[in-house]
Amino acid sequence: MNMSSRKRIVAANWKMNLTVGESELLATEMRSVLTTMPRHCEVVLAPSFPALERLVKAVAGLDSVQIAAQDCAPAIRGAHTGEVSSLVLSELGVQKVIIGHSERRINNKEDHLTLKKKVDVALETGLDIIFCCGETTQQRKEGIHMQIIEQQLKDSLLHLTDTQLASVAIAYEPVWAIGTGLTPTSEQIEEMHGYLRALLNRTSAKVGPTLSLLYGGSCNASNAASIFALENVDGGLIGGASLKADEFMRILNSLPQ
Ligand code: PEP
Repeated sequence: MNMSSRKRIVAANWKMNLTVGESELLATEMRSVLTTMPRHCEVVLAPSFPALERLVKAVAGLDSVQIAAQDCAPAIRGAHTGEVSSLVLSELGVQKVIIGHSERRINNKEDHLTLKKKVDVALETGLDIIFCCGETTQQRKEGIHMQIIEQQLKDSLLHLTDTQLASVAIAYEPVWAIGTGLTPTSEQIEEMHGYLRALLNRTSAKVGPTLSLLYGGSCNASNAASIFALENVDGGLIGGASLKADEFMRILNSLPQ
């Protein structure tokens, strides 16, 4: 499969770091780069829930920019106090949702079944998905990181039909690299992305080769170019380094043309 048929995606996960006003300001500061992104590149901004509606408006007319939610409920409607339905996200003009981030798996005890339900309802309500997977330090030390990642995908994602799977991008985010300043070596990243690509190709010979695989975990303006140049890396999911306009714009400009 020719590399150019896979979409390049760089997604900013702002987590709970910005107010609504700060989120809007950051999107506005980045507008000059966002207006000139080449068509095969997609930029995704994921602010916290209350900022979504204003961010959708802030990027209106920018074809290569999408707004993502950082999570959604595992059901579409019902007695789920405090949860946010993907139906409502869709209604606001949100196009994507991040599912399976390790902070939610760990802090909110989200298990494979919950994540599978989130995947299903997100797709049912018309959202695309960035599905996160990643191993802990201990799992890597034990040498079981490949099996862990494969199981995370099998448990929550690989039941999808080809058409559904086509709406998913996968972010490999080793837990030990998130927010720590530690990054795997290029060999380790490519090894995992190659493994994921082979798994996806076995799952669907038609859709597997077209899916975007992102790397996430202490990716910044200094290391993005070398990470994005790897054969099976199609972009990144960026946390801390997406909070400053100039650094995030440098990361966007690190995407191979
Ligand atoms: C993340 O939380 O998705 C992430 C990649 O964070 P950071 O870039 O800060 O490591």
